Amino acid sequence: MLNSSVLVLNRHFQPVHVTTVRRAMGLLYVGLARAIDRSLETFDFESWSALAIADGDEVVHTVSRAIRVPRVIVLQVYDRLPRARVRFSRYNIYARDQDTCQYCGGSFARAALNLDHVVPRSQGGRTTWENVVCCCVRCNLDKGGRTPDQASMALLRKPVRPRWTPAFRAPSGRVRYREWLPFLGIVDAAYWNTELLD
Ligand SMILES: [Zn+2]
Repeated sequence: MLNSSVLVLNRHFQPVHVTTVRRAMGLLYVGLARAIDRSLETFDFESWSALAIADGDEVVHTVSRAIRVPRVIVLQVYDRLPRARVRFSRYNIYARDQDTCQYCGGSFARAALNLDHVVPRSQGGRTTWENVVCCCVRCNLDKGGRTPDQASMALLRKPVRPRWTPAFRAPSGRVRYREWLPFLGIVDAAYWNTELLD
């Protein structure tokens, strides 16, 4: 129980990582975090430990009392924004380009999209955020091994490294909780719903 998972949010209520109940209770106790209940109300240690225990609630026992186990805590002090760089992946390139072909502007299912090197590799183009875009199969074929200029195909916009932070991903294989859902992105929520333990 003390080693089971607690979702940690920063002060902007963005999930930043997953910790253990033991560590979460420690943060709560010293005032570095507040616990969040199912109605999204936040509590300091005193008010949290005064909460009545309902049937089915998980609890930790201290010398003097039983305390409900928090499944989500919010940090009070650190402004701990996710600092990881956005992974340069197919998924994230599609996300940046919103599943839209960057030449014809068409929206497609991901399966119908390719990645295109704006400056082809055969002409020294690199595999970077600034040189790879989402492209439909048709445009990909039309463009061939040419630059946009050579093919007379204008890009909708100049590709750049995204400024958004990567979506939070909890380590796989850990127990997930219903209490976490309000703080996960909608895409994550759909994914997570299938694996809920209650
Ligand atoms: Zn296209």
